[in-house]
Amino acid sequence: MDSMYYGDTLIVDLEAGTTEQVPFDEADEAGPGLAAALALYGKHADSDPLVFGSGLLTGTPVPASCLGFVLGGSPLTGEPAVAPLSLFAGVEMKLSGFGIVVVKGVSASPVYLWLHDGVPDIEDASALWGLDTWHATDAIRREMGESLIQVLCIGPAGEAGSPMASISNNYWGSGDDAALGAVMGRKNLKALAVRGLGMIDADDPREFYDGAVALFDGVESHRGFRALCERLGAPDLDGWLAPVAHRTRSCFACPYACATFAKYREAPSVMESGDVEEPGMLVAGAAAALWLMEGGWEPAAACMALEASARRGIDQLRAARRLAGSPLTSEEEIVTAVKELEDVPEAAWPIGDRGREGLFGSWVPPLGSAEEWARANRVGYVLGVCPTFLLMSGVELEALAALCAPAAGLEAGPDDLAGMLG
Ligand code: SF4
Repeated sequence: MDSMYYGDTLIVDLEAGTTEQVPFDEADEAGPGLAAALALYGKHADSDPLVFGSGLLTGTPVPASCLGFVLGGSPLTGEPAVAPLSLFAGVEMKLSGFGIVVVKGVSASPVYLWLHDGVPDIEDASALWGLDTWHATDAIRREMGESLIQVLCIGPAGEAGSPMASISNNYWGSGDDAALGAVMGRKNLKALAVRGLGMIDADDPREFYDGAVALFDGVESHRGFRALCERLGAPDLDGWLAPVAHRTRSCFACPYACATFAKYREAPSVMESGDVEEPGMLVAGAAAALWLMEGGWEPAAACMALEASARRGIDQLRAARRLAGSPLTSEEEIVTAVKELEDVPEAAWPIGDRGREGLFGSWVPPLGSAEEWARANRVGYVLGVCPTFLLMSGVELEALAALCAPAAGLEAGPDDLAGMLG
C-alpha cells in the first residue's frame, strides 16, 4: 500500500537522541491511519510511546481530509487515548514526509522535533521551556523562518505534568482531553513542528480525483457555528458568540467553517490589522464554549478563559467545565483562575457525561447516536477525515470508503475500516 503515503514511519528515540526511518509495514498489516498507529503503539509499548499520525486520505482533495491524531497512554485512565489534530497539522505532517511518527523514551533535556521535507531533526528546546504555547509557537516559527510551520506544543501545564495538560495546535488548543500534553512534558518534548512540500500519489489519480470532487459536490457549504449548533441542539450558542464573532475559519479542505475567530480586544468589525497585537482567538471547541454559555459567562470573558487555557496548555474542555458555574469578568481574575486549574489534583473526566469514552474524546459534544458517533470516529481516524464533518454533512460512508481503491488499491467498506481498530 504505497500510494497515499509519503515516506516511511519515523521512530524517534529521545533517550538515545536518534531518529530512524523504517518501512511502513503496519499499514499493510493492520490498516492505515489509526489502525497502523495502534499497532505501532503496541509494538513500542514498553517505551511510553506517543504516536503522531495521519490517515489514508489526509491531505487529499477529499472534503474535510484534515485529520491527524496523536495516540498515547492517558495519565487520566492509564489506557490508550487519541486526540484529534485538526486545522492543518495532520496535513503538514504528511507533506513533511512522515505519515506516522513514534516518539519513544525520555530526553535528558528539553527538545523539540522539527520535521521538514523528509528530514527529521531533534532540536534543543531549553530556551522554549517555560514559554506558553503562543510564545513557543512564535519562537519556533521565528527560528525556522517560516510562518506556515504547524506547531504541536505544550505550555507550562504540560511541562509540570498537570492532569489538565493538553497538546496545543499552534495557538488554539486541541481536542486533547486525555492529558497527552503531560506525556509530552514527562518526555521533555516541548513541541513537534512540521512543514513540508511533499507529494501525495494515488493508484488511479483520475478516478480518485473525480470521486473526491463528487463528494464535495454533494455537500452544502456552511459558514460558522450555526449548522453545528443546530445539530447539537444548542441553537443559542451561535447567537451568544455573535457579539464577538469576527470571521469563520475551516480546517484543510472542509466546506464547513465551524470555527469562529472572536475579537474581544478590539471591535470584531475591524477587518484590517491594527495596533492591537493579540485581538482575540480562534474558538474551535464547541463543547467548551457550550459549557461556558450554559454557565452564564459573557462571550468575551468566555473567550478570554479559552485563550488563557490554550496559552497555559490546559484542556479547554475540562477547564470550561470546571469554570462554568462561576462566571468571571476581569481578565486578571480569569487568567489566575485558569492557572490554578493546573494544580487541580483530581481531574479525571467523568465518563459518559459529554466526556471521554474509550479511545475517543469529545472535542465537540457527540453528534448523533453513540453508535453513529463511534462509527464516524472509527472510519474518520483510519481515513483522516473529520468525524464531525462526516456526521454533519451526511456523506455516505460507503462512497467515502469506495475511494480507498483508487487511492491505494485498498478494497474496504465502512465496516472493514471501522473494524480495523479492533
Ligand atoms: S467540520 Fe469543523 S472541525 Fe471538522 S474539518 Fe470542518 S471545520 Fe474542521
